[in-house]
Amino acid sequence: FRAVFSFFRTDALYIFKGRVLPVTTLALLFYLGMEMYAEIEKGIRLPEKFASSGLLASSILENFHSLAILLIVYYCNDIYWRSRVSRFHLLEETTPLFGAKIIGHWLSISLLIFFFSVMAILLGISFQVAYNYIHVDFSAYSGVILFNSLPLVLLAGFLLVLNKLISHKYLSLGISLLAAIIVASPFANKFIPSPLFRFLTGFTGEYSDFNGYGIYASSFAARLLFGAGLLLFTWWLSEIIITRKIKWGIAVITFMLVLTGGLSGSRFMKGYHHQNKEVMLESAANYEKLYRKYQLLPQPVVTNVITSIHLYPSDNSYEIEGVYTLKNKTNTPVSQMLIQFEDGFSIKKATLVSGSENIELQNKLSEISFQQPLAANDSASLHFTISYRWVPVNGHQSFNAIINNGSFMRISRYYPKIGYQSDREITDEQERTKRGLGEVSKEKKLDDPRSNSDDFIRLTMQVDTDADQTVAATGELVKQWRKQGRNYFLFQPSAPVPFRFALSSAKYAHTSTMHNSVMIHILYHPEHGENVVHLMNNIRLTLDYCKSNFGAYPFNSITFAEVSSFTRGFAATAYPATIFMTENMTFHANLKADQQQDVINELAGHELSHLWWGGNQLVPDDREGAVMLTETLAMYTEMMLYKKMYGREKMMQRVQMHQQIYDAEKGFSANMPLYKVSGNNTHISYSKGAVIMVQLSELIGEATVNRALKQLLNRVRNSGKKAISTDFIDELITVSHPRYHNRIRTLFMGI
Ligand SMILES: [Zn+2]
Repeated sequence: FRAVFSFFRTDALYIFKGRVLPVTTLALLFYLGMEMYAEIEKGIRLPEKFASSGLLASSILENFHSLAILLIVYYCNDIYWRSRVSRFHLLEETTPLFGAKIIGHWLSISLLIFFFSVMAILLGISFQVAYNYIHVDFSAYSGVILFNSLPLVLLAGFLLVLNKLISHKYLSLGISLLAAIIVASPFANKFIPSPLFRFLTGFTGEYSDFNGYGIYASSFAARLLFGAGLLLFTWWLSEIIITRKIKWGIAVITFMLVLTGGLSGSRFMKGYHHQNKEVMLESAANYEKLYRKYQLLPQPVVTNVITSIHLYPSDNSYEIEGVYTLKNKTNTPVSQMLIQFEDGFSIKKATLVSGSENIELQNKLSEISFQQPLAANDSASLHFTISYRWVPVNGHQSFNAIINNGSFMRISRYYPKIGYQSDREITDEQERTKRGLGEVSKEKKLDDPRSNSDDFIRLTMQVDTDADQTVAATGELVKQWRKQGRNYFLFQPSAPVPFRFALSSAKYAHTSTMHNSVMIHILYHPEHGENVVHLMNNIRLTLDYCKSNFGAYPFNSITFAEVSSFTRGFAATAYPATIFMTENMTFHANLKADQQQDVINELAGHELSHLWWGGNQLVPDDREGAVMLTETLAMYTEMMLYKKMYGREKMMQRVQMHQQIYDAEKGFSANMPLYKVSGNNTHISYSKGAVIMVQLSELIGEATVNRALKQLLNRVRNSGKKAISTDFIDELITVSHPRYHNRIRTLFMGI
């Protein structure tokens, strides 16, 4: 040990007194600092973020590891070959792999790695101080040690042995670099198919104030332990081969580490599901070939859903019990039916009851032939219990994130589905031809026959969760109680809603106000309270504006609930009576630092207006132009509220920004008029839509536009058919002076 220490001391002195270190440290910190700055400021489009520990630690995790790999490759080579060129190397030549020298090298490089990591963390903390967000969360920064420093320490050991085995300074430098890229860089998943053997790579996930690094931390540690065992075992083996001697002390240590490593490795891989692209494409093709005929066959539809959802956040799992009422709304009897359960779910029990028939369903996909067909207007029922659990090795799904704290699930997506699901089709033309598939199912055309507007469901949803958590869900909370150490919530929207419901569960702070007989709730992370008052004011303002201009608010309450950043893909999303917003995106933005834009105003204005445009009042017929009646109208409301709060000039600056977004994007996809816009062209439905609606309001006046919108809602309510984009244009024509008619048509129908 004394020898190890003396080697360690010489090496450490060499590294820390050398001229290279200050230069590399400064370069590293400069680079990380630039990235941190960019992460906080976020450019002009997005709001400035709070300089929280989680944000800065994530920024380190994103950038530090790759850069550190290069430094470690250099330092391992440098330190290993330094003594070689000195006169001592002949003496050391006989030292085995495990010799004091190499351990000394390894320890000194490990010290260097921790030095770099601590410097990076200190940089993060100084950013927090500079941005005046002093709450330092050490569990966020400890991720840097676990996810970056420790794998780098293992990498250093691996590289030192590589240098030893190759015995040529520059050759080993080259090979070390190559090897490091293959085993440790983000490219490793190209070379190493099994996630277990990618133990030298860093972590690219998310840090959430709700959930920390979640279950990913322990899973990552288990894999590291496996890696450590594996590396020690290979060193030990090469040692025996080279020296032809077995040191029993080391053998015992190796054996123990290999054993724990092996156990951790199997724990890490438990439940691993390898996704093979070819297999997935093949199964999608088979599905389409076998079941596309159901597109034309009459199928019953769900009219009523009674469900209980049992959430187990700490186990990353939940169970759903449900009963569907299924009604044949066609004029023909249904003799065959297709029922599909979602992948990744296990079916505990599923029974279809129709007349005197009780049909047990065992498979994910069941084709049912009734002995007694389901006559027109007759009903059947589906009773099911299904469960879901995810494991870290497969990662979580953004919209099905059942996690320790801050869960969010677009849960209706995972309920059983009736009939053919065209969204499973392969869209890639080449892949389709290769598999002999015809044309992909097309989006409905504007002038196709309209659907009836009676496809909403009656929803009764009971949710229970851990004792310290609160649930927010689609619809209104009608009852809440506690039983056997769990919290129960009963949600029941006062009106029928589309088959689209979601929920969240977290340890929430809670603020409520009654405003003109609507109860407003905001549920949020206890440390994210900065914008609550501002949001509350904006919700009131939006409610008042929408009620007086578009018509009554359809529910008795509105809930805004924050969810963890483990859910990505939206800033906020609106459901009947409930709006979910993701951590850090808008709700927890640093408004005071950013005079340019008020994202809370946008959040309240846009999302709350979806309770008129998209929620359950105006639900357009699913076809081209449909998003014009949801997103474009929400953008319009957002703009009008911005104008109300900050004046016309400020609003015009926002419009200008949307013009820029549209101009920047339009070159990348086929251009289409707003009234035929498809769902994926958000630069048209949101940005160009905002520009056009503001132009329209300047042309015929805000009050006139609102009159048209109010009439549109009335027409939808009374017609029994779903709305299409031209309905709105028709309403505009009826409310405006003929001298504007051509201009109005050009705005919506021109390119
Ligand atoms: Zn929207």
